[in-house]
Amino acid sequence: MPTLNFEQARECVLRQVQGCAPSIRETVPLAECAGRVLAEEVTADRDYPPLTRSVRDGFAVHAGDFPGSAQLVGEVRAGNVYTREVRRGECVEIMTGAPLPAGADAVIMIEHTRREGELIFSERAPEPGEFLNPKGSECLAGAAVLSAGQRIGFAHVAMLATVGQAEVAVWKRPRVAILATGDEIVEGGAVLDHQIRNSNAYSLAVQVRSAGGLPQMLPVARDEVGATRDLIERGLEADLLLLSGGVSAGKYDIVEKVLSDLGAEFFFDRVLIQPGQPLVFGKARGKWFFGLPGNPASTMVTFELFAKAAVQLLTGEKEPGLPLVYARLTEPFRHKPGLTRFLPASLSADGSRLTPVRWQGSSDVAALARANAFLVAEHDRESWNGGELMRVLVK
Ligand code: AMP
Ligand code: MG
Repeated sequence: MPTLNFEQARECVLRQVQGCAPSIRETVPLAECAGRVLAEEVTADRDYPPLTRSVRDGFAVHAGDFPGSAQLVGEVRAGNVYTREVRRGECVEIMTGAPLPAGADAVIMIEHTRREGELIFSERAPEPGEFLNPKGSECLAGAAVLSAGQRIGFAHVAMLATVGQAEVAVWKRPRVAILATGDEIVEGGAVLDHQIRNSNAYSLAVQVRSAGGLPQMLPVARDEVGATRDLIERGLEADLLLLSGGVSAGKYDIVEKVLSDLGAEFFFDRVLIQPGQPLVFGKARGKWFFGLPGNPASTMVTFELFAKAAVQLLTGEKEPGLPLVYARLTEPFRHKPGLTRFLPASLSADGSRLTPVRWQGSSDVAALARANAFLVAEHDRESWNGGELMRVLVK
């Protein structure tokens, strides 16, 4: 099987899972749709704004009457309409957001006027259209305002509320089975010194949820063929299976063997990255699976780099991206070229400065909990000076 570099492996995952958009939709109330993925295009129910409206407090005028004066004949406030036509030589007091009365073609700000009785004076020469937000200028009735496959954030919710969608059509969330493996792995509570509490299943569940999937945790699989096989078969009933552990070269790393006994097709089983080199990706019984290496850092990083994109595609999201940014190193950094490394780091609150977090290796959960990002050391470069820009994967 080929050994892939980081970009090739990510490309492979995207290529495999792309085009497998979900097919089951459901309807959720507007207030509960955030984070879900739109299953259909949303169009504007009317023009926006529906009427030409003022964007200032002031006077609705005939632009041609100014500089000069006009007779004040009425008032229009937001939520009301002025029903008569404004004739030449007349003006109407108008508030921000109120519809422009018929006849008027501009607004003069109140700060640029002087009032004497019922006469309004201004030295300004407004352009027709000044301080107006014309009917339909934001979007026209029937125009697409949101497209299918968009993940719904707060601005999208505002758009849905604006066009009056009380119910929103979204894709059903993919079920993602999580299967931790390892004889030493136990669930919380009292443990013996040679046992390790299961943390991967819990961090993965959070990562799955934030990618838009529904995590389904399976019991921990012992490093034994029969038990592992039974649990993998259960996991393959979900839309995607995430395994942690059991994919290295050790005598009891049996995950790949069990999967291949189940007729799995493997796309790769090694990627030139650290942590997470023995990462496995394949398909069995029509479902994709990832065998994520068991060290907590490896599990977290390989999920973020590869499995997350698969979950996102299965939610119906169109273009899963990686949140990679640049920040300046606060100290020099070196590594051994050959592997792309994703190491725990601390990104300053303003996102400008990057400091590597000291750690004892991929099992160091304490260091991961101190970090808020992973610095990205490219495979073909050995050293960075303090003050240089370095790529960062934001957590
Ligand atoms: P493995 O990939 O099975 O060789 O596991 C590598 C290391 O990760 C071992 O030291 C395990 O104890 C640790 N590990 C494996 N699975 C988990 C888990 N679910 N939670 C925490 N640590 C784990
Ligand atoms: Mg193991």
